[in-house]
Amino acid sequence: MSEKSPKLRAELDGIPTYKPGKPAASGGAVAYKLSSNENPYPPLPGVLESAVAAAGNFNRYPDMACTGLVAELAERFGVPVEHIATGTGSVGVAQQLIQSTAGPGDEVIYAWRSFEAYPIITQISGATSVRVPLTDGDVHDLDAMADAITERTRLIFVCNPNNPTGTVVRRAELERFLDRVPSDVLVVLDEAYKEFVRDPEVPDGIEFYRNRPNVAVLRTFSKAYGLAGLRVGFAIAHEPVAAALRKTAVPFGVSQLAQDAAVASLRAEDELLGRVGSLVCERERVHAALVAQGWTVPETQANFVWMRLGERTADFAAACEKAGVVVRPFAGEGLRVTIGETEANDLFLHTAEAFF
Ligand code: PMP
Repeated sequence: MSEKSPKLRAELDGIPTYKPGKPAASGGAVAYKLSSNENPYPPLPGVLESAVAAAGNFNRYPDMACTGLVAELAERFGVPVEHIATGTGSVGVAQQLIQSTAGPGDEVIYAWRSFEAYPIITQISGATSVRVPLTDGDVHDLDAMADAITERTRLIFVCNPNNPTGTVVRRAELERFLDRVPSDVLVVLDEAYKEFVRDPEVPDGIEFYRNRPNVAVLRTFSKAYGLAGLRVGFAIAHEPVAAALRKTAVPFGVSQLAQDAAVASLRAEDELLGRVGSLVCERERVHAALVAQGWTVPETQANFVWMRLGERTADFAAACEKAGVVVRPFAGEGLRVTIGETEANDLFLHTAEAFF
């Protein structure tokens, strides 16, 4: 028998993964989990009812085209059904966007630090990551990102608000940036946290999609809509990008339960957005309290705050965990803390005050 193992793609070398048999970092029972930007509210009764109804058909494959969900989204956003593509979470759709545009020899540009999946899904595709550092204020440096465009650039992510900093790019600067991007380069406006934005200068990416065929807007049901566990995301993009996303989708990748719960959530939008309003109030309270304690915390428009702690990051994360709050450390850089239920936020604030 040969000692050789199957030859795997070199692109997979160095990509981090979880250890089988142990809960992944985002799993496990803790007092308060403020590490994954989840929504602390439980599903609405109507959403649970839709899930129970879907359970009766678990022996069947789901609707591959997500017909009902796509129709609902098309009406909600005033776009043709052909311009909507669904996927297994917006991270799944992001992976399809790269698969549809970039491969070995191509370049994908994004700000850094930003959403951790960008480097991973870029590496898997065989394309090269071009990371453009955030400014000193932890904001996208759109001029530098435009300067980074080369003949090889195929896709650019703009994460707005940015994960993990919560910072935003505003309408005028985004427009100026898009004017500098060649029309054969796809710009993905990742708006996972859009519903938490209150700054009127932050545009809805759909404004730009309408007259720019090279702009795709990426959205999710995981955050404001509270369906992180069901894995539903979608992109709004012109043809042929939307068609490419349908080609690269995992067949039947969005379960019927997820589709029906997403539709029920859209129909209960007023109530869900009311919850988002409460979380935004909590965000403002937490931000103001941290500033009053003396911390430097950038303005945030998402459901989390970012604290640049440098070498103190690990110690502060450990102190939080000891207090019963799990937060998300980025070694040597800083800490991202999700806005959760009031008690969790209070516990975190007490820990921060004691640690300052
Ligand atoms: N984009 C951003 C900016 C995110 O922060 C996340 C989740 N952390 C996602 C996309 C992916 O979310 P999901 O796959 O749950 O839709």
